[in-house]
Amino acid sequence: MAILHLGSMTLRSMATKPETLLYPFETKPAPHYLKGSVINATEDCILCGICEKKCPADAIVVSKEERNWSIDRFRCVQCGACIDACPKNCLSMDPAYCPPATQKTVDNIEVEKR
Ligand code: SF4
Ligand code: SF4
Repeated sequence: MAILHLGSMTLRSMATKPETLLYPFETKPAPHYLKGSVINATEDCILCGICEKKCPADAIVVSKEERNWSIDRFRCVQCGACIDACPKNCLSMDPAYCPPATQKTVDNIEVEKR
């Protein structure tokens, strides 16, 4: 009986689409709620520094003088505290993970004067 069941399963799987993906050539789209990486829509950023103060991992550095917003993605724990605290709602969580890297990198983003 078990052999018949196994045989029917094998035949069915030969006629249907595979359940697995050919990773890394094929990837699943990230679900919208995935905590991937923090992004800053800098056109709204006023460099107030609240996100830096709220970050428990010291991942964000804001320099008003240099008009620079930076994030160390290897320190960020994706808690979302900076996003909740931003008074301009310019921070958001991108559901895509950052690409892997062999060395620690800090993303420096220039905030243009308006
Ligand atoms: S809290 Fe928002 S507006 Fe203030 S520096 Fe951070 S990203 Fe910019
Ligand atoms: S998500 Fe959390 S750990 Fe990451 S930068 Fe924002 S406050 Fe810091």
